[in-house]
Amino acid sequence: MAQLPKYQMHVGGTWVDPLSGEWLETDNPFNGKPWALIPRGNADDANRAVAAAKDAFDNGEWPRLTATERGNLLRRLGDLIARDADRLAATEVQDNGKLIAEMRGQLRYVPQWYYYFGGLADKVEGAVIPSDKPDMFNYTRHEPLGVVVAITAWNSPLLLTAYKLAPALAAGNTVVLKPSEYTSASALEFVKLVDEAEFPPGVVNVATGYGREVGEALISHPDVAKVAFTGGSVTGRHVYETAAGGLKRVTLELGGKSPNIVFEDADIEDAVKGAISGIFAASGQTCVAGSRLLLQEDIHDEFVERLLRTAKTARLGDPMDMDTQVGPVTTPPQFDKVLSYISIAKEEGANCLLGGRAAQRPECGDGWFVEPTIFDDVSNDMRIAQEEVFGPVLSIIRFRDDDEAVAIANDVMYGLAAGVWTQNVRRSITVADRLQAGTVWVNTYRAVSFMSPFGGYKMSGIGRENGADAIREYLQTKSVWISTASEVPNPFVLR
Ligand code: NAD
Repeated sequence: MAQLPKYQMHVGGTWVDPLSGEWLETDNPFNGKPWALIPRGNADDANRAVAAAKDAFDNGEWPRLTATERGNLLRRLGDLIARDADRLAATEVQDNGKLIAEMRGQLRYVPQWYYYFGGLADKVEGAVIPSDKPDMFNYTRHEPLGVVVAITAWNSPLLLTAYKLAPALAAGNTVVLKPSEYTSASALEFVKLVDEAEFPPGVVNVATGYGREVGEALISHPDVAKVAFTGGSVTGRHVYETAAGGLKRVTLELGGKSPNIVFEDADIEDAVKGAISGIFAASGQTCVAGSRLLLQEDIHDEFVERLLRTAKTARLGDPMDMDTQVGPVTTPPQFDKVLSYISIAKEEGANCLLGGRAAQRPECGDGWFVEPTIFDDVSNDMRIAQEEVFGPVLSIIRFRDDDEAVAIANDVMYGLAAGVWTQNVRRSITVADRLQAGTVWVNTYRAVSFMSPFGGYKMSGIGRENGADAIREYLQTKSVWISTASEVPNPFVLR
């Protein structure tokens, strides 16, 4: 058998074999076959990457660059990503099975994060404090934290990387990036562009491998100042607890069980598209998936009929085909998990209107496909309504009025996103106000931007990514006091 392409890790500006001496196979979800080998980093690899990042933060060129020069580097990196968008998109599709149609668009958009935060780098201003003390000049500076560990999930590797890397670097930190063990190839391709942009060595390092091995060593490393994490809520809680031991800063972007609420006065055609986009786009493998469709009683039957008509025509197949609409599930464990939730929903008495099984169509080959699945007559206390499935499985729940819609929407442990479909402006504002979610979309779904804050309420996370304030998550404030008095006053009392 031909040897698979073998990646190396990127540490201190050079390509290195893992100290573990081991590699993992990474699979193509469309055919279920391994296509490359990814270094299986261990604690020694984590230590080496953190040492390189710390050295780059403390010494060398990076701390001597002005914020404007850091911004220039970020913008150059953005240009290189734009140049290579199609190549990076193809790597993502091969490794995680998302649609080429979506990934090309996403990779053409990712440069905006580097342009936006590159532009912001030299606009982080301290303040001169109007001191209450005579003969005192007091000002603040916002300084980088040090070494940031950025850990990402498998569903949108390079987008999630941009959410973290762009503000972290703009703020002057150095980074160890730990992509998911299922989808590490795109990060290793991406870091070639970091080199080409001529970032100083050690500013961006990539350590690959399992979370419980290299990841665990990174989040507990004493020289790491912050962990920026995207992943599941159980892992997120563990990251939070571990980081607490070293009083590290933490931002957590975790799971969701987002409600997509359709009121009787909605434009039904648009809302059907919104429901589809909420749950079947990216095969439901998005943190913001609108996995609970809340329908007002009066429109339930008509809406479900139209939804089924559209969902039945969804084209499954090769994610590299621009016409494919639903691709495979990314990993075998995730495939099993989605199918097990389908069984749970059936046992709980939910009414399966569509799908409800693995897809066995010729166009799906040996890929890990699940049929687009719709459950009706779901009640919000069922597990299928409370727990994140992360697959193409929709639960329909009925409601009578605004109060009940809001009560059901908020009655989950998560609070990442929500959709509201109504043509009534007053209702859109009052309902948006009452929803416990970090993002609310009205008459649209799945819109994100580099300039709009993103993050979770409740168990969906801590902190915000994107938007101008996100850079604050990577800075700390220093207060500098300068006495202009001609003599030092009584040293035995507080000034
Ligand atoms: P996961 O929690 O299993 O893994 C996420 C990352 O954490 C991976 O890189 C993994 O290797 C690493 N990891 C695992 N154990 C670790 C440990 N002990 N120490 C350090 N790192 C460790 O999540 P996943 O299955 O990769 O991703 C799916 C989840 O991510 C879903 O819950 C989804 O909702 C969530 N997600 C959230 C957002 C968001 O922005 N809120 C975006 C995308 C995905």
